[in-house]
Amino acid sequence: MIDKLLIANRGEIALRILRACRELGIRTVAVHSDVDRELKHVLLADESVCIGPARASESYLHIPAIISAAEVTDTVAIHPGYGFLSENADFAERVESSGFIFVGPRPETIRLMGDKVSAIATMKEAGVPCVPGSDGPLDDDKKRTLALARAIGYPVIIKASGGGGGRGMRVVHAEATLLNAIALTGAEAAAAFGNDMVYMEKYLENPRHIEFQLLADQYGNAIHLGERDCSMQRRHQKVVEEAPAPEITEKQRQELGARCVEACRQIGYRGAGTFEFLYENGRFFFIEMNTRVQVEHPVTEMVTGVDIVKEQILIAAGEQLRYRQEDIRWRGHAVECRINAEDPERFLPSPGRITEFHAPGGPGIRMETHIYSGYTVPPYYDSMIGKLIAHGEDRHAAIARMCNALRETVIEGIKTNIPLQRQIMKDAAFQAGGSNIHYLEKKLGL
Ligand code: ADP
Repeated sequence: MIDKLLIANRGEIALRILRACRELGIRTVAVHSDVDRELKHVLLADESVCIGPARASESYLHIPAIISAAEVTDTVAIHPGYGFLSENADFAERVESSGFIFVGPRPETIRLMGDKVSAIATMKEAGVPCVPGSDGPLDDDKKRTLALARAIGYPVIIKASGGGGGRGMRVVHAEATLLNAIALTGAEAAAAFGNDMVYMEKYLENPRHIEFQLLADQYGNAIHLGERDCSMQRRHQKVVEEAPAPEITEKQRQELGARCVEACRQIGYRGAGTFEFLYENGRFFFIEMNTRVQVEHPVTEMVTGVDIVKEQILIAAGEQLRYRQEDIRWRGHAVECRINAEDPERFLPSPGRITEFHAPGGPGIRMETHIYSGYTVPPYYDSMIGKLIAHGEDRHAAIARMCNALRETVIEGIKTNIPLQRQIMKDAAFQAGGSNIHYLEKKLGL
C-alpha cells in the first residue's frame, strides 16, 4: 500500500528510515536544506528535493515546503523521524488532509499527549501511576494553591503544560517563593510555548528515568517492548541509554507494560510511542508520553529483535501488528552511547569537516551514523552525529563491547564526546548500574 515514502528529517534517523524502507521495498524521497545536499541518505535516496535554506524554520520545519515536495514526487507516506515536526499535530493534520499517510499516531492523539495536563489526566484515568500533583492547571486561587503545595509537600515542581525539551520547569523548596515561581513559569511559558498554563507536581529528589516502548496498530492491538533506563543525562539531555533497566524485575516490567498497553488501547493509540516515568523507591511515576520514534530505540531493538521503524511503517500502511505480547522475549543487554560533535569538556558544538572516519565493528556492535570521511558537519542543527550501540549476553558483556568499540572509533577533524563516553563506561557507579538522573552532572562537577 505504501510504495513511496518521504523522509521529513535529516542525519542518522533519516538514514535509519531509508534503510527500513529499502528492506520493505519502498522507494524513498529525501528532503533537505541547501547545506544538506551531501547527507548520506540524500545521496542514497531514490529522489531528493531541496526544501529551503539551512535555517530549520525555513526548511525542516516549513510545512508547506514539505507538503509540496510530497506532491511533486507522488509520495504516499511521510515519516517525521524525531525532533523537528514529529510531534506537531498541525503537521500530522496537514499531511493527512493533503492525502498522505502520516507515519505516527492520529493528530488528535499527538495534540492530547502534547499538552502535559491533558496527557496526565488521560493516563490517570487509564490507571497509569502519575506523580502526586495538582491534577490539572493552577488557577488564580492563591489560597487553594498554597494549600495544595502544603498537601503535596515541598519541594514541588511547577511545570508548563505546553513545555518540552527540558524547558518550562521550576523547582520550589519553600512556601515563600511558590507564588512568584508560578507567575514566572507562566510568563515564560506564554512567551516560549504560546500557552501560560502551568501545573504542580511533587518534586522527586533522586529518581531514575525509565521509559516503556509501545507499539499499537489501528485495530486495537498493542504490545510493549519493555523498558529502557535513560538516567545518564546532562541538562535533561540523555547521554547513555540501556535496556533492560538495571534492577527492574520481570514482574515490574510486565505489570507496568500491561498498564501502558491498556492505556494505548483506551486512547486508540497508533504506531510507536514511549511512556516516560520517573522511578524512585521502587515506584514508577508517569511524566510524559512521546508520540514518535526515539533516539534510543535501538537498545530495545537489540534486546527484543523487533525492528521498531519497520513496524511503524507497516502499521501506517494499515497492517495488523505482527507480534503478540507472548512473542516478545528479552535477550541479553544493550547500551547506547550518543556521539556528539562537541568539545568533551566544555560541551560546545564542534562542527566542521570530518577528515577521517573509521567505524567500529565486531560481535554485537551497531553504529547508526550518517557521517563519512570528507563529510562536513554543519553548525545549524543538533550536534548528535551518531549513536553507538553494543549488545551482549549481559550488562557486563555489553559494556565491555562498548569500551572496545569506543576505542576503535576514529573521527578526525572535529571534536567529539567519545572521551567522555569512555570515561562513563569505566565509571564504577555506572558499571554498578541504577544511578539516578543527577549522577552524571555531579560526576562532571556541574
Ligand atoms: P520535557 O518534556 O521538557 O522533557 P519532562 O516532563 O519529560 O519534560 O521532564 C524532563 C525532566 O525534568 C525529567 O527527566 C526529570 O529530570 C525532570 N523532572 C520532571 N518532572 C519532575 C518531577 N516531578 N520531579 C523531579 N524531576 C522532574
